[in-house]
Amino acid sequence: MKKIDELGDWRRTHYSVEITPRLENKRVTVFGWLASIREQGGIVFLILNDKDGMVQVTIHKDRAPNSILEKLKNLNEHSSIGVRGIVKSIKKAPHGAEIIPEEIRILSTTQRQPPFSLFGGKMPSIDKRLDIRVIDLRRPKAQSIFKIRHTVLKAIRDFLISKGYVEVSTPKIIATATEGGAALFPLLYYDKEAFLAQSPQLYKEQLVIPFEKVFEIGPIFRAEESRTLRHLSEVISIDVEEAFVSYEDTMKLIEQMIHHVTKTINDKCSEEMKLLKHKLMIPKAPFKRLTYDYIIKMLEKEDVIVNWGEDLSTQALKILGEILPEFYFITDWPTAIKPFYIKPKDGNQDICESFDFMHGSIELASGGSRVSSKRLLMKRLKEQGLKPKLFEYHLRIFDYGMPPHAGFGLGLERLMMVLTGQENIREVTMFPRDQFRLAP
Ligand code: ATP
Ligand code: MG
Repeated sequence: MKKIDELGDWRRTHYSVEITPRLENKRVTVFGWLASIREQGGIVFLILNDKDGMVQVTIHKDRAPNSILEKLKNLNEHSSIGVRGIVKSIKKAPHGAEIIPEEIRILSTTQRQPPFSLFGGKMPSIDKRLDIRVIDLRRPKAQSIFKIRHTVLKAIRDFLISKGYVEVSTPKIIATATEGGAALFPLLYYDKEAFLAQSPQLYKEQLVIPFEKVFEIGPIFRAEESRTLRHLSEVISIDVEEAFVSYEDTMKLIEQMIHHVTKTINDKCSEEMKLLKHKLMIPKAPFKRLTYDYIIKMLEKEDVIVNWGEDLSTQALKILGEILPEFYFITDWPTAIKPFYIKPKDGNQDICESFDFMHGSIELASGGSRVSSKRLLMKRLKEQGLKPKLFEYHLRIFDYGMPPHAGFGLGLERLMMVLTGQENIREVTMFPRDQFRLAP
């Protein structure tokens, strides 16, 4: 049995990146995980890795206290340790300084090594990495992705709050489908059948009555049948809904939001973007608005046939990705392939005030003007084969002055794929869920 030390009264004085020549001859305490141990001519170099980076701990075997030499025998990569020692400047070390340890505490040792190196080399399949996801998340590339994600979420919140939107939370255990019946996860709710929310749609629409401008950042659940690089069963949706506006206003809001997000990433995450080798342009508004009709004619010229009224196939999306490698909107979809709550156009009920917000071949968001008349909503429910009776709790609200309103739902993971240049949605998800993965 390897001996494990107690944390005791040790507390961190500095993070790895703070160990610089400025601290020359100061006593510091650092914590982290052992990234590598290397011995060269009687000197042992430990590289300690914490959430911010690396620091070198240097042990001169001829001078180091016996207690430290004893500890060395027990150390292996990935152990978590604490080091207390004196800072010395040295050009070759990360940040120009190293720690000469006076005492080391081994806080855990490693029972086995992961099937990949955190700091480069050949990577096993993503599934092997996902099996020990939190270890995988220590890789600098993953660290960069999730630092960017953190920045993106904050930028979106800051943006929407500055524009007067109120953050809301809606139930995730719900009574009815909103986005079509097939992709629901049913569950037992006491003695009744309930479902995991596919979207906050009906609740966020109701909330425009008391709050007018709302947003929610929360999970949505979809029982997706096929395994793709851009679908998961649980994702984070950024939902916005607003009273007294139409889908035109909503598209403008998305443009401003994307501008703010891309600018923030370029300002705050340049190191992370460099590490990911991904260049992100701040897109110029307005983004192209291309109608569904225009898009299918354009595809026809590329020999991809989409019959009017059909959704865009994977092949069609692929071609679009080649023609339009940028942010753009596809507007005015056939009413029949959009959900019941989307408002048909005045003058032509076959198309509706809807848009998909795209980047290349990837759908990032769907939005539109909503139906605000109860009579029309009941008609649309029936046309989509849904039972108005099941939506009684929602329809009832329309008797009390439902204003015209519009909004969108934007998938955070899809946005992260585009912002960080990842092809597999799993890379931008901490614990991805799909048909074949429910753990970790
Ligand atoms: P797709 O056609 O790509 O399957 P959708 O049209 O079914 O998506 P919407 O109901 O429009 O999806 O949901 C709004 C947004 O939520 C999507 O544009 C997407 O960004 C995100 N989203 C929906 N379902 C998923 C999923 N299974 N995995 C990842 N993101 C999703
Ligand atoms: Mg959609």
